[in-house]
Amino acid sequence: MQAVGLEGPVLMAAGNAAIASLAPAWAKSFAEAGWMHRVLAFGGESSRREIAAIAAEASASGARTIVGAGGGKTLDAARAAAAACRLPFVSCPTVCSTDAPTSALSVIYADEGPGRGSVEGYEIHRRSPDLVLVDTRVIAESPPRFLAAGIGDALSTYYEARAAAAAGAANMRGGRSTLAALELARLCRDVVFEHGAAALAACRHRVVDDPFERVVEAATLLSGLGFESAGLAAAHAVHNGLTAIPTTHGLLHGEKVAFGTLVHLMLEAQQSTGKAARADAEAEAQRVAEFLVGVGLPVTLGELGIDAADAHAIAAVAERATAPDETIHAMPFPVDAAGVVTAIVAADAMGRATRGNQPS
Ligand SMILES: [Zn+2]
Repeated sequence: MQAVGLEGPVLMAAGNAAIASLAPAWAKSFAEAGWMHRVLAFGGESSRREIAAIAAEASASGARTIVGAGGGKTLDAARAAAAACRLPFVSCPTVCSTDAPTSALSVIYADEGPGRGSVEGYEIHRRSPDLVLVDTRVIAESPPRFLAAGIGDALSTYYEARAAAAAGAANMRGGRSTLAALELARLCRDVVFEHGAAALAACRHRVVDDPFERVVEAATLLSGLGFESAGLAAAHAVHNGLTAIPTTHGLLHGEKVAFGTLVHLMLEAQQSTGKAARADAEAEAQRVAEFLVGVGLPVTLGELGIDAADAHAIAAVAERATAPDETIHAMPFPVDAAGVVTAIVAADAMGRATRGNQPS
């Protein structure tokens, strides 16, 4: 810890599952290091209220370092609190469900009022985490559904990076995308395609093997560096649109992003000129749909808790996804709500057809 300039006392903002399984290990490690530490149970939402509570606790306890331990929302809230307190931040994911761990970005959700559970916006902090600590032995003890969601989040990264680069859009830090970021994103997709199913099988058996290690690296490091340095586009904007529908709130970020990726690819297919280009774009979307079905991620509106005949809900998703500050405007062509509605309907149709063709 000294090597990265960290010091105690430490405030840990931690999810309940992480506390239940890891609190004794933390107590032992910090006692051995001679650091005071205090564990604050995370309230469940990366909201302004929760961030303020963590920051207040850090000030009251004289913390010199804030650690976030748990899933993406825990990390996002702890990261925002560390930024507000100008303290070093250690990111310690205990599940592999998003690419949040390495980033300097917090997604902020509403935790009250009619918009409860919906995305309010992004906060981009001055610096990246001081340390990202991932123990694959701990990740292997988490439910496979979380790893599947992490695979969904990781798969979107390349398609969004490619689109943002083609548009010349700014990355998440307001800078230019780099070739390195695009290649990391591509590698992320390739690793996930090649090893995703095997990694999930390993997770079901709580085994840490080579495919599992590679997929955790892809979903955490490659995807995190890829999205932050190359940019987001339609898939995550559709995710944010889905959060406008309360029935999707029980789904994980990566599960909504998985469907968002299909919609993203359908938007590209709509825009491709010429028969051959359109067939290529649809074949790419089909490959993604088959992969998503294979790893148990949602590919239809029904799986997201939305009635495919509910035009009002689909319009609300499209409206929110195309809000003026949304990353959907980083696509290399103009996108409006009507186009997103068409793409959602097309993605749902492809998803249903693909799901129907799978042996059960
Ligand atoms: Zn994401």
